[in-house]
Amino acid sequence: PAQPVYAGDLPEGLKKISNIIAVSSCKGGVGKSTVAVNLAYTLAGMGARVGIFDADVFGPSLPNMVSPENRLLVVNPESKSILPTEYLGVKLVSFGFAGQGRAIMRGPMVSGVINQLLTTTDWGELDYLVIDMPPGTGDIHLTLCQVAPLTAAVIVTTPQKLAFIDVAKGVRMFSKLKVPCVAVVENMCYFDADEKRYYPFGKGSGAQVVQQFGIPNLFDLPIRPTLSSSGDTGIPEVVSDPQGDVAKIFQNLGVCV
Ligand code: ADP
Repeated sequence: PAQPVYAGDLPEGLKKISNIIAVSSCKGGVGKSTVAVNLAYTLAGMGARVGIFDADVFGPSLPNMVSPENRLLVVNPESKSILPTEYLGVKLVSFGFAGQGRAIMRGPMVSGVINQLLTTTDWGELDYLVIDMPPGTGDIHLTLCQVAPLTAAVIVTTPQKLAFIDVAKGVRMFSKLKVPCVAVVENMCYFDADEKRYYPFGKGSGAQVVQQFGIPNLFDLPIRPTLSSSGDTGIPEVVSDPQGDVAKIFQNLGVCV
């Protein structure tokens, strides 16, 4: 098995986490945060202890997608570690809960902030930490891989944007970082109407990616107005509609991570 590339000792706050799952996409707006949050709540619904780390400093989505009572992170005055906020049993850390609004920062500062948020948080015992990665393949990905041993990556894309080359870039990046890609999620793939299934953007090249790179799982997520509105109202769809079709897709994804 591949050795992780993280350097040095594992930070104290990450020591009791069994699996760190990166949810990643090459472009913004494809549904990466939607997948990360619904995956996390699915795993929690299956009985796991789960946390979400929103690693997008420029556009943190997590604060809109969940409704924690306490919307500010607290620092333990003695240990100086950050205590995650929590919603429906899932621990949450996002720059959007740091009380500073949107940031104007240069690359190295962003890496520093992400590093600090992730590693000085006292996550406690977790079965899964789901990381909502920033879009693209850059500095922050490298930083995260250096400070935390990522167990696996899930790549999110959409059919029309599934420029084969873009997804391949993501897979190659994780492969260089010695993180296995366990699934590709092709989001906003189809919708059902009049007992027929429509693929408005064509079938995408997910199957080709999966085949070429030997990724074991491909999941198609439908276009669903409720998936979008649940993101806006702060209740993940798999929580508000646990028997729904989407919940079943996420349960299967949960089994594979
Ligand atoms: P990203 O994290 O890739 O930037 P988001 O998860 O924030 O993307 O999703 C972008 C927008 O698309 C959000 O408004 C979200 O609610 C919506 N969305 C994502 N997936 C779906 C879907 N399958 N059906 C309908 N709307 C979706």
